[in-house]
Amino acid sequence: MVMGIDGGTLDLVVPWSQSGELPNLKRLIDEGVCGKLRSTVIPSSASAWTSFMTGKNPGKHGIFSFFRLIPGTYKIGITSGKQRDGKTLWSILSDAGKKVGIINVPMTYPAESVNGFHLAGYPSPSYRDPYFSYPRGLGGEIQKVFGSYPAIPNTRGRLLKGDVDGAIEELCSAFDLKEKIFYFLKGEYPSDFFCDVITETDQAQHFFWHLMDTRHPRYDPILAKRHGNVILSIYKKIDKFLGDILEGLGEEWTLILVSDHGACMNHMGNSLLQSWLINLGVLHVKKRPLHHFVRLSRKMLRMLQPVARDFLPHWVRDKVKKLTPNLALSTNEYMLGGTSFNEIAWDKTKAFWLWEQLWINLEKRQPKGIVARGQGYEEVRDSLRTQLLQARDYKTGQRVIREVFKKEEVLKGKYLDEAPDLQIFWEEGSVISGMTARREEELEDRVAFSREDDIRTGEHSPYGMVILWGRGVKKGHLLSNAEIVDLPPTILHMMDQPIPSDMDGRVLVDAFEADFMKRPIRYEKAPHDGSDGCEETYDQEEMKQIREQLKGLGYLG
Ligand SMILES: [Zn+2]
Repeated sequence: MVMGIDGGTLDLVVPWSQSGELPNLKRLIDEGVCGKLRSTVIPSSASAWTSFMTGKNPGKHGIFSFFRLIPGTYKIGITSGKQRDGKTLWSILSDAGKKVGIINVPMTYPAESVNGFHLAGYPSPSYRDPYFSYPRGLGGEIQKVFGSYPAIPNTRGRLLKGDVDGAIEELCSAFDLKEKIFYFLKGEYPSDFFCDVITETDQAQHFFWHLMDTRHPRYDPILAKRHGNVILSIYKKIDKFLGDILEGLGEEWTLILVSDHGACMNHMGNSLLQSWLINLGVLHVKKRPLHHFVRLSRKMLRMLQPVARDFLPHWVRDKVKKLTPNLALSTNEYMLGGTSFNEIAWDKTKAFWLWEQLWINLEKRQPKGIVARGQGYEEVRDSLRTQLLQARDYKTGQRVIREVFKKEEVLKGKYLDEAPDLQIFWEEGSVISGMTARREEELEDRVAFSREDDIRTGEHSPYGMVILWGRGVKKGHLLSNAEIVDLPPTILHMMDQPIPSDMDGRVLVDAFEADFMKRPIRYEKAPHDGSDGCEETYDQEEMKQIREQLKGLGYLG
């Protein structure tokens, strides 16, 4: 039985279980094995859950983020499970005759025809889509019994409207609904392997971190008094859910809790790196008179905001507030990362940013690539790496980036060429108020400021968590060096199945009693999974639904 906790972190779970808030999690830690779990290089739920289900690093499975650069274009695609290269753990178990039940695992649309059932996780179209569930009519059946499904709370949308209570209410009811659906499916489809992922943790952490953490610049003691415990209350719900599951779990079961990445204060890196590249002079925006006007107006409105807050009457204040995000929108779809790709002057741009991904505008790969392959490419990457590591917070002078890796230093596999060129590890534990960049010809730093419409105050961090409990598992043991790719080999071995030789992970031998591990670990030649590569999978209507989901989650503006 695997319970996924999107964004679950020991940084919160350990102190809260020690202080008595999470008694069932405390029991699992005390009576089981617990450790940090290294996420994928880009700690995106899309790449990390895919590594969790395939045992492969993103260079092999080909999914790096929710967004992808459609090869040979400057178009942004939304990733789906269709782009995954690699057989999933549940598909392997299915083929071996095991009954499986998969609920809500992100990046699993289209649902696979497994020996059991499968409900796709986000991003996915509604239950009406035949590929939302397997058996194909299951989504509709659930909708009939429980009402609207899938339930993806529109947290960002509600918060932008100032509806904090509504946002919290929606998060909690989505959780409750999924809990009911879990029991319904568990009753209907007895399985040998269950996997259910809870995603409300991640959303709560993204949008309510500042009300829990007094060090956060947006911490507001009055709001914190009312809503400071949103994240804790979601963990408490999980704790209660786990308690109920434990009660009904037979002795032959092992329970595994796993998260795709951890969580920390939002450094704001994802939403300011594009402006930083503009300041550095490697990314250029088309010059249009209107563009300057919009930028200037936006700047003025930003300057006006604090004044408005203190002096202006309510109705003017609301007007100013409303105008600011509107002006930030371009005429075309734009990422929260900043400028729309339609506004970029590609013939002058050396590097660009696509939410978590730093790309070089490389000749013969990008349509208007200007950086030559070979030495030219290396020079641009080296120079960017140096500049990124030198970037400072303009107020505190602190470094904002801990490490930068070239893709081949941290990824391997046939999708390396489709991977973003540089991988960035941000410093954790602070918010960047402005990120400095120095152009060669200039003496003074330029500063890229974070965006007001990025209201995500919590962000992903590279270490998630893993807890194992039950049959064969050691008691009260601390696990070290575990990685997300280790889960499938570990689960296959536990279920007495051979491990495909192309998986990158290893069996977490240290988590189990010696007796349980007596059985030798078996490997087998990897089967061809028949993946047919990168096709578009959504039609327009589905794309609209998925865009709404990603907006609610705070990935699209
Ligand atoms: Zn997230």
